[in-house]
Amino acid sequence: MSRVALVTGGTRGIGEAICTKLKLKGYTVVANYGGNDLAAEAFTERTGIPAIKFDVSDFEATKAAIEQIAQDFGPVEILVNNAGITRDGTMHRMTFEQWNDVIQTNLTSCFNTSRAVIDGMRERGFGRIVNVGSVNGQAGQYGQVNYASAKSGIHGFTKALAQEGAAKGVTVNAVAPGYVDTDMVRAVPADVLEKIIATIPVGRLGKPEDIARTVEFLVSDNADFITGSTLSVNGGQHMY
Ligand code: NDP
Repeated sequence: MSRVALVTGGTRGIGEAICTKLKLKGYTVVANYGGNDLAAEAFTERTGIPAIKFDVSDFEATKAAIEQIAQDFGPVEILVNNAGITRDGTMHRMTFEQWNDVIQTNLTSCFNTSRAVIDGMRERGFGRIVNVGSVNGQAGQYGQVNYASAKSGIHGFTKALAQEGAAKGVTVNAVAPGYVDTDMVRAVPADVLEKIIATIPVGRLGKPEDIARTVEFLVSDNADFITGSTLSVNGGQHMY
């Protein structure tokens, strides 16, 4: 039986590339998404990977969905916390909703999903958790106090949970992508994006596959001595 991998926010962008890569490597992949049914249907048609709708910021809904996934596909042995949103705005204009939505969706979600799988991983003596952080959680970014806080929190979350899981065969790592060509980045105004690309030493945006390859390595048996680390995949934009 192949290992079951759950990828949150798996139906678009970086998540889709991770799902596709893990499926290619022989894992049983389940994607989650938040609300875009059309994109999810198209994803499943393209990839043959099931897509399950639940809001990762909702503790009870996430718990119930992960229990159902365990019944339908088997226990989740690989968890990729990839779902994320932006609600940008400078601090003096940011609403509480913008702050809270991003913290709940990008950071509290990691607690919700990990809490639902951690007991089983510890009991079985094997688990892989990979959290998708961001260069902006490492370096900060104008207009993203909410997003930078959530992503920075992910890096602390990773190191703390890694310490707890280490003796039980559960590794916990983070990937910190730079700017990657997805819907999220396409929403950035073209002139701003041009300026951002000028700060990337390799001279291009990342591709979703750049991140997927890194996740695939971190969940593999080859990475069993790597835990609590953050791998930056950012074209040299920020060397941390
Ligand atoms: P996209 O906007 O392309 O896709 C986001 C995915 O997350 C979608 O599948 C979306 O589902 C899902 N999602 C959003 N909110 C929820 C929710 N509440 N519950 C469940 N699923 C949800 O994002 P990217 O591929 O660009 O980004 C993926 C991750 O990488 C994010 O965590 C992002 O912060 C991070 N990242 C991205 C960078 C980039 O340059 N693109 C750079 C650094 C980090 P639905 O389709 O239903 O909305």
